[in-house]
Amino acid sequence: MTGIVYKSTGSWYVVKAEDNQFYNCRIKGKFRIKGIKSTNPIAVGDVVDFDLDETVDEVNGVITNIHDRKNYVVRKSVNLSKQTHILASNVDIIFLIVTINNPVTTTSFIDRFLVTAEAYGIEAVLLFNKIDTFDEATTDEQLYLQYIYSKIGYKCLRVSATESKGLDALKEMMVGKTSIFSGHSGVGKSTLVNAIEPTLNLKTKEISDAHSQGQHTTTFAEMFDLSFNAKIIDTPGIRGYGMIDMDKHEITDYFPEFFALKENCKFNNCLHKEEPNCAVKEALDNDEIAWSRYNSYLKILEGDDEHYRNDNFEA
Ligand code: GDP
Ligand code: ZN
Repeated sequence: MTGIVYKSTGSWYVVKAEDNQFYNCRIKGKFRIKGIKSTNPIAVGDVVDFDLDETVDEVNGVITNIHDRKNYVVRKSVNLSKQTHILASNVDIIFLIVTINNPVTTTSFIDRFLVTAEAYGIEAVLLFNKIDTFDEATTDEQLYLQYIYSKIGYKCLRVSATESKGLDALKEMMVGKTSIFSGHSGVGKSTLVNAIEPTLNLKTKEISDAHSQGQHTTTFAEMFDLSFNAKIIDTPGIRGYGMIDMDKHEITDYFPEFFALKENCKFNNCLHKEEPNCAVKEALDNDEIAWSRYNSYLKILEGDDEHYRNDNFEA
């Protein structure tokens, strides 16, 4: 049988099969996934083949094969060991919930998030929440951000979780897809998820609060079916998505508006700093590239990951 992994505890997996039934599965022997050295061989979102095993009561399947992953998200490692924990795989959309105030979401945080999503090969969408609290200045600021990000190809939505604004458009985007919601603590993730699916009570909040007090417990993601034919992956207690190790030159590829221009730079290894005839710098001078984006690029290039570490990409 074939199914999707909805939950994992590390030693067994809940798999929803084509017959819409859930099966508790385990793995036989050791699994090695090509190219990835991770602490967990199977992640939520994986498509797996399994054999029925009636010999044990609660465990009723044995996973025999994992289908190729379209993409996957790793948890930022909390210690220095190079071990990777795969949080979720086969994700269609990763929503970043952005608030202008309470809490402040900075452009450098947004950009680092988008770079990470680009590197993962997952579509990122910006959800500007709490629009019901906006005064004129906040509205201007939000619309400016929306202008910057939609211009370079990112979908943006304005929502209010508490006043149910923009939620139909959000649901429409999610139909038929698997989504993850992330953003700083306090941006309204729980409120938003409860607003689109009142019967679902995600544990996101509770666990991430405990987590932010310094507990580094291993937590696992869990997938849920929503009533409007969408799936959501809840990733409790996640301090951050791992920034994929990338080469300096690779960073340009994850800034779509830089990537579009890089062929026009005089040097094909241009880092868009001090090099002459740099198309990115020219576009910056002509206001075709936002300074905030360029500054974020420089920060990432310079490996300013101290800041990143403190950013707390809670999901
Ligand atoms: P989380 O940490 O991201 O899960 O954030 P919560 O869902 O717990 O929300 C944090 C606070 O923001 C709560 O007091 C919510 O009531 C409030 N909140 C969430 N969404 C909105 C919104 O759209 N408008 C307003 N005014 N408050 C909101
Ligand atoms: Zn350049």
